[in-house]
Amino acid sequence: MRLVDTHAHLSDLEDREGVIGRAREAGIEAIVAVGGNLETSRATLSWADDYGGYVYPALGIHPTEWMGDDVDKTLSFIDEHIDRCVAVGEIGLDYWNREARKSEDVRARQRDIYVRLLGIAVEHGKPTSVHGRGAWEDTYGLAREHGPDRIIFHWFSGPLDVLERVLDSGYLISATPAAEFSRDHRAALAEAPFESIVIETDSPVSYHGKRAEPADILLTLRFLADLKGVSEEEVAEVTTLNAERFFGL
Ligand SMILES: [Zn+2]
Repeated sequence: MRLVDTHAHLSDLEDREGVIGRAREAGIEAIVAVGGNLETSRATLSWADDYGGYVYPALGIHPTEWMGDDVDKTLSFIDEHIDRCVAVGEIGLDYWNREARKSEDVRARQRDIYVRLLGIAVEHGKPTSVHGRGAWEDTYGLAREHGPDRIIFHWFSGPLDVLERVLDSGYLISATPAAEFSRDHRAALAEAPFESIVIETDSPVSYHGKRAEPADILLTLRFLADLKGVSEEEVAEVTTLNAERFFGL
C-alpha cells in the first residue's frame, strides 16, 4: 500500500529517525509537514532538509498560534521560503479558540492574517491546507474570494451546506483519526465522494491519550474504509492519487 500523510506537525515530534522509520513501515511514501508559526515553520524546513523527497514542507501561521509572535516577520519568512514548499499551511480561522470566543478583534486579526497567507499562496502558485474550527463559513468564504484553486479543508467537521459549497468549488477535505468518533467529521466524510478526500494524522494531536505520529495514518485508513464500506486498499489507492495530484508530488 502507498499512503500520503497530508498534514502532520512534525515540528512537534522528537525522535526523527524513529518517526520516519515507522512511517515507512506503515506504507507512507510522503509526509506533508505543516508549520504554524515562525519557530515551527523553521523546524518544518529542518525536517525537510533531513528527509528530502520524503518530508514535503508547508509553511503557515495557525489561527491560534500567532499571539505573541511578530506576525510580519513570520509572513516575510514564509514569503521568502515558500518556493521550496509544496503548500501554504496550516492557515485558517478558529472561532472556538478561547481568545477568539471572547473578542471580535481577535477574530478580525485571524481573518486578516489568513487573507494575507491566501495571498502568498496565490502569488507563488501554491495550494493550501486550511483549518476552520467553528468558523467554516468564513474560512470557505475568504478562501473562495482570496485563495488559490487548490485548497484542502483539513479535518472538515462543519455544516453540510458549507461542505456542499466546498465540494462544488473543487476543493478537497481531509480525514483524520477522529473519523472514528467525531459525529460531524463522519457526516462530512460520508457525504463527500472519494475523489474529494485525502487522509492525514494531524500529528501529534492526541488520540486515545497517545500522541499521534504519521504511522497512525493506518487508523485514519481503517476508519474511513469502515465508514465508506470499502477495502482499505481501495481507500489507499484513491486518496493517495488525490494527494499526489493535489501537491504535485
Ligand atoms: Zn494541524
